[in-house]
Amino acid sequence: MCGIVGYLGEQEAFPIIIKGLKRLEYRGYDSAGIALMNGSLSVYKKQGKVSDLEEFMGDANVKSTVGIGHTRWATHGEPNDTNAHPHFSADRKLVMIHNGIIENYAVLKQKLILRGHEFISDTDTEVFIHFIEQIQIDNQCELEEAVRIALTEVIGAYAIIVISAENPKQLIAARKSSPLVIGVGRNSQEFFLASDATPIIEYTQDVVYLNDHEIAVIKPNSLQIKDIGNKPTTPYVTHLEMELESIEKGGFDSFMLKEIHEQPNSVHDCMRGRLNAETGHLQLGGINKYLEHLLNSQRIIMLGCGTSWHAGLVAEYIFEELARIPVEVEYASEFRYRNPIVHAKDSFIAISQSGETADTLAAIELAKKEGGTIFGVCNVVGSSIARTTHEGAYTHAGPEIGVASTKAFTAQVTVLTMMALMIGRKRGNISDTQFSELLYELETIPAKIEKILQLNDHIKDIASEMQHAENALYLGRGYNFPVALEGALKLKEISYIHAEGYPAAEMKHGPIALIDEAMPVLFIAIKDNSYEKIVSNIQEVKARKGRVIAIVTEGDDLIPKMADYVIEVPATYDVLTPLLTVIPFQLLSYHIAIMRGCNVDQPRNLAKSVTVE
Ligand code: GLU
Repeated sequence: MCGIVGYLGEQEAFPIIIKGLKRLEYRGYDSAGIALMNGSLSVYKKQGKVSDLEEFMGDANVKSTVGIGHTRWATHGEPNDTNAHPHFSADRKLVMIHNGIIENYAVLKQKLILRGHEFISDTDTEVFIHFIEQIQIDNQCELEEAVRIALTEVIGAYAIIVISAENPKQLIAARKSSPLVIGVGRNSQEFFLASDATPIIEYTQDVVYLNDHEIAVIKPNSLQIKDIGNKPTTPYVTHLEMELESIEKGGFDSFMLKEIHEQPNSVHDCMRGRLNAETGHLQLGGINKYLEHLLNSQRIIMLGCGTSWHAGLVAEYIFEELARIPVEVEYASEFRYRNPIVHAKDSFIAISQSGETADTLAAIELAKKEGGTIFGVCNVVGSSIARTTHEGAYTHAGPEIGVASTKAFTAQVTVLTMMALMIGRKRGNISDTQFSELLYELETIPAKIEKILQLNDHIKDIASEMQHAENALYLGRGYNFPVALEGALKLKEISYIHAEGYPAAEMKHGPIALIDEAMPVLFIAIKDNSYEKIVSNIQEVKARKGRVIAIVTEGDDLIPKMADYVIEVPATYDVLTPLLTVIPFQLLSYHIAIMRGCNVDQPRNLAKSVTVE
């Protein structure tokens, strides 16, 4: 996954790159490195976080106005100093940083070894830069041309930046299936490159999103973009509206906690301008041209990974209820390798916070090739998925930096609920009264989330009871079965406690065997149409001495008598409950992880935007 940053201009490059890498650390954080051009090329790299790199560099001479930096999430070769980026060519005149995977690197490496190349790292990236070097020697061409030829031969995904000691005032960048944004600074005299816009917006809001198969050659006062066939393209500058404070912690101890607490606002922002209960207005501006297709879909297929897949599962229940269209929910990584049957009347909804998830992108490509119509639900504006889908609706949750997704999930569910409502209404499945009631109720959700957040101290007490558990079981039914999955995922991700989510009724088909005094069982037991059934399931767990933590509807006086702990959430329509029931699980995981001494924003082995397959 990795985060990459580059700078060329008149300012000092080092502080810009270091700050940028810290903003991108959510993408990977097992090692970091930097290359600065000051007369000659100086490269520093270190296993660990960006702060370890800074410490390692001490008072090294960092004077330079051109440089690149990388924060790694290892795919090829363990995370150590040698495998950290940047990587040198054999003559040490070229350096490269790379985000992605070169799938044919082993074949290329073999060929290069036969030609005398020696490799010091285990990475595919080192092979990539040696390959470019060899092409330049063989063809006696400019670096730009050597990069272009190399790109026609490598298979896989990349966002790269290359510097050459022989051309110190030049950066060459390219991308395919990994993101790369170029910020255009003061009077087009300086350029900022990064995996996303967060390292850039402090300096400029004018950015160019590099497209797949494009190569950018950046020199003082000049940005030239060509495609892989050597045809120049005109850079399209987008003006971003992102605020700097939206990517900083704002007084919270972690991004995750800040993002959990932002949910009343992010859910509200997601509905802003789209929904007005008073006037009965509900419209998603991004879904227009293909709206008829969506309304007449014979089937909707949700594509996603991780938390986004859970949002898709919630949406399956909501769409089938409100829109009355059959829904299937697919792991993008499974879908893309099958031989799926796609009909012209199928609609796909691809869900991804970053809009860069490699498997989801590949699944979209496949669905498109088979004739499907694709709608995107992404958070990052201008991301690859947002650009590659036919149409879509942004979640507008603001930048999500914490690796464990929180506000992106509730925003995804909000957008998907609005979509289902819009379709249901237009297809005549929802009465005027029902439609209006649901719009009014949706408008109350931010305040209800706020109320749940006020239970923080109570949830923290429960967390302290649960912190030493080795396993946990999350159970829910209907709309809240996917919330059980999401609750279990949150716990696994950041506290490293093994947890499983199940439909409550399935408990009897296996997981019940695990229950004893040591096993916390977390129920979503709100007053919906399966309340009585859940009550029976709680009794079954209590009969086996399990510890029950139940999320209940405010005022419930039955379950508190049975459960060890209860967390109350305000009442709402069944279809909207996932937007509330997930909040206590987010807070619970957060507190347990903190009590166990875990780094919630950067959990081990994970990275936020999974741009590798
Ligand atoms: N494949 C490169 C490495 O292992 C880059 C990894 C990535 O972008 O995830 O170093």
